[in-house]
Amino acid sequence: MAEENRKKKVKKILGIKGMNDILPGDAAVWEFLEGTVESVLRSYGYQRIRTPIVEDTSLFARGLGEVTDIVEKEMYSFEDSMNGDQLTLRPECTAGVVRAAVEHNLIYNGPKRLWYSGPMFRHERPQRGRYRQFHQIGCEALGFPGPDIDAEIILLCHRMWEYLGLQNVRLEINSIGDAEERNRHRADLITYFEKHKGLLDEDAQRRLYANPLRILDTKNPDMQDMVNAAPKLIDYLGEESLRHFEGVQAALNRNGIGFTVNPRLVRGMDYYNRTVFEWVSDELGAQGTICGGGRYDPLFEMFGGRSTPSCGFAMGVERIIELLKVQGGIEDQRQADIYVVHQGGKAGIEAMAVAEALRDCGMDVILYCAAANSGGSFKSQMKRADESGALFTVIIGEDEVASGKATVKEMRSGNTGGAQASVPFEDLPDYLLQQAGDSCCLDGLCSVEDGQQGQ
Ligand code: ATP
Ligand code: MG
Repeated sequence: MAEENRKKKVKKILGIKGMNDILPGDAAVWEFLEGTVESVLRSYGYQRIRTPIVEDTSLFARGLGEVTDIVEKEMYSFEDSMNGDQLTLRPECTAGVVRAAVEHNLIYNGPKRLWYSGPMFRHERPQRGRYRQFHQIGCEALGFPGPDIDAEIILLCHRMWEYLGLQNVRLEINSIGDAEERNRHRADLITYFEKHKGLLDEDAQRRLYANPLRILDTKNPDMQDMVNAAPKLIDYLGEESLRHFEGVQAALNRNGIGFTVNPRLVRGMDYYNRTVFEWVSDELGAQGTICGGGRYDPLFEMFGGRSTPSCGFAMGVERIIELLKVQGGIEDQRQADIYVVHQGGKAGIEAMAVAEALRDCGMDVILYCAAANSGGSFKSQMKRADESGALFTVIIGEDEVASGKATVKEMRSGNTGGAQASVPFEDLPDYLLQQAGDSCCLDGLCSVEDGQQGQ
């Protein structure tokens, strides 16, 4: 059958454009990022929430706004063939989190700090830093009106960049005020854009009356000068909004966080109000924003909940991975602490039991198993052991089975310099734990001294 297929040249089915496989070669950097971010979120008391990837299309249309890039042209929407429901693959997660909070009345006994992580979907033109399936990690602080929480989530981001070792990430902030302030600004903005109608591109013409604020967000170089001179929203903020914005800035200053106020920063969704911010790198080409967020006080009420002032951010995981790589990457993780090789039928059975006993003590162990398309010679097994990065190889052949003692080979240069030892099977866990010291107990599961191994 396999031979027949080869002859017929079976056509390969490929992945979908803009939706990437994240291959094992990148596993270490992804795990480093996810682990670091999760521990920072925990250190601020954020709890994880997982919402479905598919939501009712109207959730995004109503939450994000009809006249936004995402809703107008980027959503993967389809009809449920069973019942005709209009569904959409989530393009972002804030709408889903707020829907869930309203649905389950999560805020009934006070505010909640939540975070999420997962794939998002937008039908964009695939290019560096812009994909059709990409990943975001974000947080949502629900039910907090004051500027303290805006500052907290910004400090949280700053701590993430620091722990990840990211350099030169700058912070831009702005306040887009309340609906009434935006309305006054909007009227003047429309008048201004009408005066410069000849300079507006197609997108801007379409948005002129529906969503003129978004014209300020244009990336069209021919419109930059005109847009720069447009009325600035910040000049329309009332006393309360200004005080809130000043509160955010004071907290950032007190904690030594550098930022610039960018009066043109408006962000892509309609649900934002007051504080908005972006973290930007200049080392990623055109797609330099690694994280964006802000306050969205009106969203709960838009979804039928009661007034719940809130704010959050979402970071683009692929862009941060790229930045980690551009800035020097991280060391390859070893795949296991111990590699077990064996030769001969009985040795294989013994080797599996040895590997299990070592895992009982918290060690990460790879057992050689017969591989398709490659031989199982002792030499090729040792090569695999070396490639795995393991600290020790346990060798079990016919002699070892007969004597009840395994040969242990030190793989990494250093203290014992590739030395070999003969160790009774039952002593292997203690022996290896002692030899490897702390380095094999990566997750702190085992402790030789108190006999609590593998707890
Ligand atoms: P952009 O201006 O780059 O289109 P956006 O305003 O649409 O970004 P948000 O919706 O605020 O982005 O999403 C937050 C973060 O998610 C972005 O700052 C970015 O890092 C990442 N992101 C957004 N869209 C994509 C995408 N298509 N591919 C990869 N990452 C993305
Ligand atoms: Mg976008």
